[in-house]
Amino acid sequence: MTDCIFCKIIAGEIPAEIVYNGTHVTAFRDINPVAPVHILIIPNQHIDHIRDPRAFEGELLKEMVQTANEIAAMEGIAESGYRLLINYGPDANLVVPHLHLHLIGGKFLGPMVAV
Ligand code: AMP
Ligand code: ZN
Repeated sequence: MTDCIFCKIIAGEIPAEIVYNGTHVTAFRDINPVAPVHILIIPNQHIDHIRDPRAFEGELLKEMVQTANEIAAMEGIAESGYRLLINYGPDANLVVPHLHLHLIGGKFLGPMVAV
């Protein structure tokens, strides 16, 4: 999608600190981190959000979660713990309309609503 900020990151048109670049999935550091580790895992194909039926085709969601787990280990937070989060809709403050999984950790996160 031409005007999508995350598609532009995948295309290399916008800089990002990419930590994983696979065939179906890319991961990069969030520009406004809420914790010492805050990484976004996204499909390389543009998918609007978690209610988009394309999200459920093939093994995509499984691969996104597996990638998040692997990156958590690479970041050294597999034992201390982390949060995986997908926002949808205005109440969850979904801002970027390209499906993304937040990997958040590296400190005690407290109750879920505090993030
Ligand atoms: P959400 O509220 O789930 O839509 O979260 C979107 C996330 O994308 C926020 O945490 C932003 O800080 C992050 N973000 C927006 N633009 C960029 C960018 N250019 N590079 C990295 N992260 C970004
Ligand atoms: Zn996109």
